[in-house]
This record gives sequence, C-alpha cells and structure tokens, in this order.
Amino acid sequence: MKEKYKYINQKNYKLNVKWILPIFIFIAILSVFAFRYIKTLTYKNIYKTISELGKQTATQLNSSIEEQKKFVETAVDSINRGYFKTESEIFDNFADDLENYHFTRFAILDREGNGITSDGYTVKDYPVTDDYFNFDDVYLSENRKSTISDVQINIYSKAFKINGEEKVLFATVYTKDYKEILLRRLYNGLGGTYLINNDGTVLIDSFDAIKENNVNLYSFIINKHNATDDKSLDKINQIKDDIENKKNGTFDITFKDNDTYFGHYENIGINDWYVINIVPATAMADELNHFIAITLGVCIAVNLIIIVICVYIDISNQMKNRKLYKAAYVDSVTLLGNENYFKENSKIFLNSLKENKYIISLDVNKFKVFNSLYGYEFCNKLLNILGEKIKTGIPKNNITCRMHNDVFAILLEYDKDIEKVLEKLHNDTAVINVDNIPIHLNISMGVYKLKKSDTDINKVLDKAYIAREQIKGTYGEYYYMFDEALEKALIEDENLETSMESALKNREFKVIYQPKFSTVDEKIAGAESLVRWYKDGKVIMPNNFIPLFEKNKFILKLDLYIFEQVCKDLAEWKEKYNADLRVSVNVSKEHFTNENFIDEYVKIVEKYNVDRNNLELEITESATIDKNIDVVKIANKIKDCGFRISLDDFGTGYSSLAMLQELPIDVIKIDKVFVDKADYKSDKNIINYMVLIAKQLRTDIVVEGVETKEQADFIKALKCDMIQGYYYSKPIEKEAIEEYFTKETIS
Ligand code: C2E
Ligand code: CA
Ligand code: CA
Repeated sequence: MKEKYKYINQKNYKLNVKWILPIFIFIAILSVFAFRYIKTLTYKNIYKTISELGKQTATQLNSSIEEQKKFVETAVDSINRGYFKTESEIFDNFADDLENYHFTRFAILDREGNGITSDGYTVKDYPVTDDYFNFDDVYLSENRKSTISDVQINIYSKAFKINGEEKVLFATVYTKDYKEILLRRLYNGLGGTYLINNDGTVLIDSFDAIKENNVNLYSFIINKHNATDDKSLDKINQIKDDIENKKNGTFDITFKDNDTYFGHYENIGINDWYVINIVPATAMADELNHFIAITLGVCIAVNLIIIVICVYIDISNQMKNRKLYKAAYVDSVTLLGNENYFKENSKIFLNSLKENKYIISLDVNKFKVFNSLYGYEFCNKLLNILGEKIKTGIPKNNITCRMHNDVFAILLEYDKDIEKVLEKLHNDTAVINVDNIPIHLNISMGVYKLKKSDTDINKVLDKAYIAREQIKGTYGEYYYMFDEALEKALIEDENLETSMESALKNREFKVIYQPKFSTVDEKIAGAESLVRWYKDGKVIMPNNFIPLFEKNKFILKLDLYIFEQVCKDLAEWKEKYNADLRVSVNVSKEHFTNENFIDEYVKIVEKYNVDRNNLELEITESATIDKNIDVVKIANKIKDCGFRISLDDFGTGYSSLAMLQELPIDVIKIDKVFVDKADYKSDKNIINYMVLIAKQLRTDIVVEGVETKEQADFIKALKCDMIQGYYYSKPIEKEAIEEYFTKETIS
C-alpha cells in the first residue's frame, strides 16, 4: 500500500534510463557512419599524398633523363656539323661533361660493334641493334650489364656520320644513379618505388628485394604475397591493364595476410616506363590512427554532450514537475502532505481491504495563544517539529498531513490496540523544544474506525472532526472515539439537511423576539430576533441547526428569510401601533465572504419601507478575527447602507482593541459567560473592563444572559445601557411583544 503513494519529499532526482539506451544506440549508429565517412576521407587523403609523390618521382626521373638525352643530342649534333676529326677529339671535347651529366663513360662504335671508350677501353663485337643505331632520336636502353665493370648500366645512344663512316655515340650511366632518385624515402623508409617498363619488368627496385634481372613485378607481387585470390588478382590485373594502356592510377590492395598497401603508378614519359610507389598501410598508421582518434573523440564528445543535454533537460523537467507537485501537494511549513495530498492519496487507503483502518483528526488546544505569544515564525517551527513527531511516532503504514492551521489528519492501519498509539502521540507531543524553549502542548484527537462501506474521504474526515470537537474544553481528555451517539447526531444532521429546503417553503422557521430592557427605567428598549424551527410538532432550537446550516451555507437563505419576517413585523407594528421598536437580527459571518451580501438586505428593507435606524445587524466577534474576512470593509458597507451594527458575543473572540477601534460599531453585547462568571463582590471584574472598553469605543452596552435579580442589579450599577435575559423575559412570540405596545411600556 505504502509504495503506491506519491513521493513528497524525495530528494534525489531519478535518471530516466529508458531514453538513454535509444540515444546511445542512435549515436553508436551515427558513429559508425561518421567513422566510415572519416575512413573514406582518410583514404582519399592517402591517395592524394601517394599520387603526388608518384608524380613528383616521375617528373624528377623524367627531367634528369631528358637532360642526359639532350646532352647526347647536342653532342651528336656538333659531331655531325664536322667540328671533330677523330674519336679522341670528340672524347677530349666532352671530357668535362662526363662528370657534369653523371655519365660513366662514352663510347663510339661502328655497326659491327667495334670501337673505343672515352676511358681507353677497346670494344669488340658489341651487339649494336637498330635501336641503338638511331639517327633520329636519342635512344635509352633498359638496364644491362656493363661489359667492362660488371654493374648494371643504361645506355644513351645516337648514330652519326664522321668522315663518311656511320658510327654511334654511347653514353652510359649507372642504373643505381636513377635508384637514388627513386629512393626518396617514402614514409620513414617503409615505402618504396619500382621503375618498370611497359611489360612490368622491373628496371629498378628501390626496396632491394629483387635480386635477379628481368623480373616481372606482377608475378613477383603475386608470389611474395601469395595473392592468388580473385580480389587481389583483379586489382593487379587492373594495374597491368592501365600500364599497358599508358594510364596512371592509384590503388589500395589488401592481401590474404591482411597486409594493406597503398600505391600509385605514373608514366614517366620516357620509353613508357612507369614509377610505381608502394607504401604499406602500417606506414600510414600514424595518419590512420590520427583520424581514427579524431573520429572516436568526436563521437564520444558528441555522445557525451547529447547525453548531458538530455540529462539536463530531464532533470530540469523533473525539477519543474517537483515544484508544481510541491506547490500542489506539499505543506511548506511541515513538509508533510497538504489537504490535497491527503484527499488524493486517501483513495488507495480507503479501497484497501485491510481490517483495522483509522482516521484521526488532530489539533493543538488553544494554538492561537501560542501564535500571539511567540509569533508566526516560531509557531511554524513548532508545527514543523510537531508534524515530524506525529509522522514518526505512529506505526509506519500511515498518511499524515497538515490540513490547515494546527489541524493534522492521519490515516492509519493498525491491528493492535489503537488507544496505545493515541497515548503515545499524546506523550510524544506533550513537550516540544523550539529554539531551546520547551513548549507544553495538549493535543486533541478525534478518531474514527473506518468501515468497509466508507468510500468518501470527506465524510470520514467529518466524523473524525466531529469526534475531536467533543473533547474541546474537557480537562484531561485527549482523544474521543467516534461513537453511536455521534453517529446518531450525524444522522440527525443529515435528516435536517434533507428537509431544510422544504421547511423554508412550508414556513416551518419562525421568528421570536427576546426583549432588551433599559437599565435606567426597566422599560423595553429593543428586541433580538431569534429563529425557531417547528418540525413535526416539536421545536428545534437554533444551536441544533445553525452550525449545520453555516457549514452547508443554507444559513445564507435562512438569515434573509428571518430578516424579511422581522421587516414585515416592523412594518405591521408601525402601521397598527405606530410603534418604533429597534430589533437586532443575527447575521452569520458566512455572508461576509461575498462583499455584496448587504444588497439583498437593502432590497428587503426597501420592499417593506422600514426605518433602517430600527434595524441592527448582529455580527459575532469571531467574524472580526477571521483572516479571510475584511470585516472593517464589510462593517463600513453595512453602516453606509444605514443599518446599525452590534458586536455579538463580545469577549469570546479575542479580537484586538486596535481592530475594534476601526469598526463602526453602535452596540457591544457582552456574552452570557461573563455574567455567569462575574464575582459581584469584587470590582476587579472582567465586565468592568469590558464596560471601560465600550465607553472608550463610545458604543452602547447590552449585557446578555442575565437570569437573576442579583445579576441585574450588578449590571445596572455598572451603568450598562440594556439587559437581555431570562430575568426580564425569555424570547417570546410576536403577539407577546405587541402586548408591550398596548401597555405603552416602551422606553
Ligand atoms: P445569540 O445570538 O447569542 O442569542 C442569544 C441566545 O441566548 C439565545 O439563544 C437566547 O435564547 C439565549 N438567552 C438569552 N437570555 C438568556 C438567559 O438569561 N439565559 C440563557 N440560558 N439563555 C439566554 P437561542 O435562541 O437558542 O439562539 C442561540 C444562538 O443561535 C444565538 O445566540 C445565535 O447565535 C444563533 N441564532 C438564533 N437565531 C439566529 C438567526 O436568525 N440567524 C443566525 N445567523 N443565528 C441565529
Ligand atoms: Ca445574537
Ligand atoms: Ca449573544
């Protein structure tokens, strides 16, 4: 049962995990895409780098070969022009250029391959093919072994005529010189470059992995990486095709052993030779890792930011709800639930099938006194501690709330002796320390044991409340269990309630009048109108129905009805007896919640054309201390409409002198209790002080409830203006009042 109640003072905010998971998944998917995207970007970047490198290498190689070609071209040109007579003249002339152009040596041979070199060797039967013996262009051979020094060389050649003979100029270079250009270390030396011819034959291998001559690069790669799978073969064939078709390109290839390589092939523009750069992906690891790190970092950051934002939104929503909830359901003084909370959460409690359920209405006796003694703030602390003591002092299965002021309500489930719980509550709250001041409290509790048929929280609250009302003023009693007698009274109230409307129509409510007598000449000086209910041949006294009618607001109708009867009587008396009797009429404070209530009274007076100075509206002193009523405003309105005002039950309502001074009152009615208590022998009587106050306020004084001659004499001696009491007259019928008119005994 307990866990179903809404939280009241929960301090931590709960994270809603429900939506975190979908967001997480969403972001994870997003991350995968981001990752892929960044991978593509990385590949593009690598492709760009490697293809630029390839182009650079190709250009460099091209320009250094072109330079050498050009030299051979110009040298042959000058020979053809007949500048030289002999081979040695030629060699002498170009001796310096050997070094400048990085040639190893020159040679001049005839068609049969016989001749001499610039460094003095004699060459015999060198296989001079037609490729070499070219009159139009400079030819560059592929690598071959030098016949002189057993190293790999390349030969530039161009044919010419000297002294009528056809000869050819050879200019040889070390192949390793080209290698140096290719060796520009790629990626910390992990990459490398091949120079291949159009068929794929490796001319230069900067990796130094190939030891033999005339190795085919494609077969070499296939063998080395065991690249017999279709995917690898496809890629290799693609490269082969491109090179055969003189295209350039970039590739990445992943072999069976999961080694990935990036590469680029570029035609160098001479002999259709290609440089082909190859870099293992591991060499790119830095770059790749960098990108992966960035991707991961960005993903995690985005993830975190989104989650933080969501959490923030969620918590601020919860805070907002919590605030709204608190405003609606939490009592700010005690931090317990308030009346709304109590009523809303009671449903579960009422519907539970448990046997022993109780509702307790609890308040502090004379709490108002503490308020005026210690002030508002102090009393709020007091209520806070009291609330805590109540909540923690009773068995756990409970709903404890502060309803208003010092009134608490408790719903409790308890299988043992409930009276023990009540006794404990009484003892726990007997002394409460507030700011180190021990405050002695007496609490009153009304208790009602719930029945299965009880489903309306308001009804059971009423029962507990009514039970509590029974203790008021009974010394030493602190709880009252709702019993048969109260049940009966409640049923009685329900009966009255169901018949009140029809009773009004059937004129069951009648006015009687209690005369007031002048203390000067003991003649009748006024009267108070009082209501009686003649129901089924019996008279019901107002104390039995007025509180009920105040609760259900029927009093608003009844008061106006009585007022109208009084006005009717006054008009009749004026006409019949030309009598002017001042009559006071009780006006319940329930009227005062509506500022315009007086308009209805005015309408009635106008209808019967009665002198308003003969009408006095009695308002009770308790109305003047009700915080919800602006009694000064109301009283001024009444006065403005021409009615007199008397303050009823004076002395019982604790109103302040300051407040009384603001009220435009004509009469003060001293309550019967003060007459009963009066010690006639002492002049230190409360009535003495009341008379002093009234004199100060310049109001008339009526003393109520005077029953004996002794009391009457005492009051007369105090110079009060009027006496209303059984000693002179009980409330009497209209006709009995009329007798006073005929006797002409009006004061
Ligand atoms: P209240 O306004 O204080 O009226 C005076 C009550 O004291 C009357 O009781 C009256 O009969 C009683 N009383 C007067 N002199 C004596 C006395 O010497 N000894 C004793 N023991 N009692 C005396 P009642 O008529 O029973 O009315 C009770 C209360 O009901 C009234 O107290 C008033 O508050 C309320 N009431 C009566 N009629 C109306 C009404 O028309 N409208 C409203 N709103 N309240 C009314
Ligand atoms: Ca009265
Ligand atoms: Ca009174």
